[in-house]
Amino acid sequence: KFRTNLWSGPEMLPITRRGAMQLTLAVIKPDAAAHPLVVEALQQKILENNFIIVMSKRLVWRRQDSEKFYSEHAGRFFYQRLVEFMSSGPMRAYILAREDAISHWRMLMGPTKVFRAQYSSPSSIRGQYGLTDTRNTTHGSDSADSARREISFFFPEFNAEEWMQREEPRFRK
Ligand code: ADP
Repeated sequence: KFRTNLWSGPEMLPITRRGAMQLTLAVIKPDAAAHPLVVEALQQKILENNFIIVMSKRLVWRRQDSEKFYSEHAGRFFYQRLVEFMSSGPMRAYILAREDAISHWRMLMGPTKVFRAQYSSPSSIRGQYGLTDTRNTTHGSDSADSARREISFFFPEFNAEEWMQREEPRFRK
């Protein structure tokens, strides 16, 4: 029987024609979420890329949420700036599903640093909309482990295993 390991990385994907459905967390950061037309363009991009929007919400972080989410960067020179920025206004968060969702969303985002994004991937999201290295429009999980952790950080009410069991067979039809 075909079995999907929900959190497996690409190296562990079962060998099938279409690959396995995967979940990732995508965030439209406050710089972009403040602009309805940018939000709309990004949602359009999500759908054009055959992602299923499993859940989405608008939310505002308190400073503590920001510090906790980015604790791995504590002490870096940009940490205070980052924490402040991420709690400066509304964001949009999405649970996205697709085959290779994690790497596909990262590819659409483009590189972290805005100059590199504009120079080497001008049509990426950060290349198009990024303002600075910190205010860079979007976030996406970078591995299966971080997708699991980040989805439950943003959507504690979401049961990924249950969703996958219910929806994954439909995806393969
Ligand atoms: P990514 O968001 O591409 O996964 P990181 O996890 O390395 O990148 O960094 C998290 C966030 O911290 C970035 O998206 C960006 O907002 C900010 N950041 C990272 N590196 C820098 C930097 N050199 N200068 C300013 N801000 C940065």
